[in-house]
Amino acid sequence: MRSNSPGKIIVIGGGIAGLSLAAEIADWAEVTVIEREPHLGYHASGRSAALFSETYGNRLVRALTLASRQAIADGGFAAHRRGALHVGWTGDDAAVDRLAGELQALVPSVRRLSAAELHALVPVIAREATCGGVYEPDAVDVDTGKMLAASASALKAGGGIIRTGEEVRAISPDGRGLRVETSAGVYSADIVVNAAGAWVDVVAGLAGLSGLGFQPKRRTAFLFDAPAGADISNWPLVVDLHEQFYFKPDAGRLIGSLADETDSEPCDAWPEDIDVAIAVDRIEQATSMRIGRPSTPWAGLRTFAPDRTPVAGFDPRLPGFFWLGGQGGYGFQVSLTLARMSAALIRGEPLPADVTALGVAAAALAPDRFLTPAATP
Ligand SMILES: Cc1cc2nc3c(=O)[nH]c(=O)nc-3n(C[C@H](O)[C@H](O)[C@H](O)COP(=O)(O)OP(=O)(O)OC[C@H]3O[C@@H](n4cnc5c(N)ncnc54)[C@H](O)[C@@H]3O)c2cc1C
Repeated sequence: MRSNSPGKIIVIGGGIAGLSLAAEIADWAEVTVIEREPHLGYHASGRSAALFSETYGNRLVRALTLASRQAIADGGFAAHRRGALHVGWTGDDAAVDRLAGELQALVPSVRRLSAAELHALVPVIAREATCGGVYEPDAVDVDTGKMLAASASALKAGGGIIRTGEEVRAISPDGRGLRVETSAGVYSADIVVNAAGAWVDVVAGLAGLSGLGFQPKRRTAFLFDAPAGADISNWPLVVDLHEQFYFKPDAGRLIGSLADETDSEPCDAWPEDIDVAIAVDRIEQATSMRIGRPSTPWAGLRTFAPDRTPVAGFDPRLPGFFWLGGQGGYGFQVSLTLARMSAALIRGEPLPADVTALGVAAAALAPDRFLTPAATP
């Protein structure tokens, strides 16, 4: 622990958001990660489709993603150059052209594919059914397990502590710091980081604060076998232009998803049979694949702030209370940059120059943007 350190920091949540920040500050403060579930990454972080796409999300999300690319490469987290393909159908030509223009302006390697080129890349899509698509060749599969494990290792190497199976139940001011009551005991901390995923607003409530309006949204996925004889290893992630479904290779099989965004309470999300059935039907309608019985269905919660941009920053209403939430469907893409930014904010330092050069300002991520003047002291 360095001399200008605040001392003790408690991070609530052992997903990629909390762990990556904890790893970033572990050699600077005494860091304890508290996770309610028996193991790390139990909720959203253990259920993702593991894609890193520079064209996904709003302007700030894309900037945070771009700023993460180097760290993803340096950490050895880029598992495969997967690519991502948005497929248009009959009548979608103008929309595909428009999307190609928009995405090329962001990422120059993006290309408009003709129907023939698209069919050559993913032969299960009938040439006569598609008007072509938009291809992002540099989207990569990330090794999410490795990212979680690397953060946990770095945290431990910095002297940090991980407490799984322990739930935070109350947070209150305590002299110059905060008192954190859990299912296993009481801690005092100088800073508490709220990285509770779908529960960020619930955890704010434990500190007597109103929430910021985060909305968890359920997304359903499942596995199915590749068509007999097909070499799927280099298929990209294939996403319907209208986001009605997607599929992508995963360890010799395919992940399918409805690309659903169903509002949910924070919970241990469970797939609905109907959502799996609709996704199977849509993929079968759009391709020559016959899925039959999908296996291993799962669901997870992607949690969004009202403007779909993550929140990172101190709450002006309670000194020492730091928000790190709203990673939505982009947690693995943005976490390493959000961790660096959050570490700078916690240390009272300027944001990293490479991040501000991409047009990201602290105010754009601050919780203050959702607080009315009356709520702010
Ligand atoms: C189906 C699906 C596909 C996705 N695909 C992608 C993708 O391709 N690329 C991408 O980048 N992202 C993707 N995501 C999004 C990504 O998984 C999330 O953005 C990310 O995992 C969020 O991480 P987190 O740490 O904020 O939340 P979580 O992983 O949910 O972690 C929060 C943790 O806080 C804990 N907690 C809550 N309350 C308490 C408490 N009171 N006390 C102690 N602990 C508490 C919870 O138990 C939980 O483990 C996908 C998500 C889903 C569901």
